[in-house]
Amino acid sequence: MPRPLLNRRLAEFGTTIFAEMSALALRTGSINLGQGFPDTDGPEEVREAAVRALRDGRGNQYPPGPGVPELRAAVAAHQHRFYGHLGVAYDPDTEVLVTAGATEAIAASLLALLEPGDEVIALEPYYDSYAACIAMAGGTRVPVTLRPSAEDGTYSLDLDELRDAITDRTRLILLNTPHNPTGTVLDRAELTEIARLACERDLLVITDEVYEHLVFEGEHLPLASFPGMRERTVTIGSAGKTFSFTGWKVGWVTASPEMIGAVRSAKQFLTYVSAGPFQYAVAEALALPDSYYTGLRDDLRTKRDLLADGLAAAGFRVFRPSGTYFVTTDIRPLGEEDGFAFCRALPERAGVVAIPNAVFYDHQDQGAPYVRFAFCKQEKVLQEAVDRLRAL
Ligand SMILES: *Cc1c(COP(=O)(O)O)cnc(C)c1O
Repeated sequence: MPRPLLNRRLAEFGTTIFAEMSALALRTGSINLGQGFPDTDGPEEVREAAVRALRDGRGNQYPPGPGVPELRAAVAAHQHRFYGHLGVAYDPDTEVLVTAGATEAIAASLLALLEPGDEVIALEPYYDSYAACIAMAGGTRVPVTLRPSAEDGTYSLDLDELRDAITDRTRLILLNTPHNPTGTVLDRAELTEIARLACERDLLVITDEVYEHLVFEGEHLPLASFPGMRERTVTIGSAGKTFSFTGWKVGWVTASPEMIGAVRSAKQFLTYVSAGPFQYAVAEALALPDSYYTGLRDDLRTKRDLLADGLAAAGFRVFRPSGTYFVTTDIRPLGEEDGFAFCRALPERAGVVAIPNAVFYDHQDQGAPYVRFAFCKQEKVLQEAVDRLRAL
């Protein structure tokens, strides 16, 4: 047998489900509530800022490795503006690193911080790049599963399970709050315990907070603000979700100078730098008034309710998310059990595309009857989807 082309680390991953489902949406003329990208662009003035930067020749050549100073300053100012009351402050020169989206930030952090064989605890279901990046870094993923609760329609973290998952080989916890796809926002008590465990067992934490501004219930608390965490936490943000420019791929890391140095060591050999003119535009975006951020959240809360209510009316059991722009549903009340089969048939049956949550699990059986819909779409699109789904 000839040796397989794709190496063993990546063989299990194949192509992402999003490619398959987006192609299916196109072929069937379905409404695509699969992949989480907005169907309207972010603020006009931010787009104009990108055009201006491009025309003025700012960022058209390699920007500085850590990111343009304007953006690093804006990221530090943003962290201080929203979390300064929690003691969060970062030095723009030594504690901020601009990346090619949160995706590169995750990859570079894992590549920098893991030795082969290190175990990484990640909340399952997880964002699809986590497992592949842990594998590329030679790490071993150890999922801790968020469990759906029948009573209150939410997913929750079992802290005992998290504690029991930590071994002598655990190097880091890869956290995501607000959590995609479940919409769970970890609360103060949960984060306090995670921080306590990280300190007690001397673990590093990478925390993916790209939905920090999309919290509908409760509040977003950066893990780095908890006692003992600043020195051991890599915090990841992104302009994609916050400003509705997912194609620009501008993300950032905030961490101690030592952690930033480590992540930069990997990042410099991945993309080196990226998105020059967009970096200037995102610097302006981050300085938008509070009304922008609250407006984004309120708009998405309305959309969440429209879609969640519509899905419930169509017969799904709905996990109304506290954050993010995804809603997870249970298809069993519709007499269905297999999310894959359901999602592959849904475009023909109802003209809507969704994602089977099983793809976000190691324990695929745990995710089998759940299906995720995105609501970062225009209200009229969501309304049309809801109308179509009523046919089920
Ligand atoms: C969208 C998303 C990312 C990727 O962000 P980019 O900035 O587009 O690379 C990372 N993590 C989560 C949880 C996401 O939903």
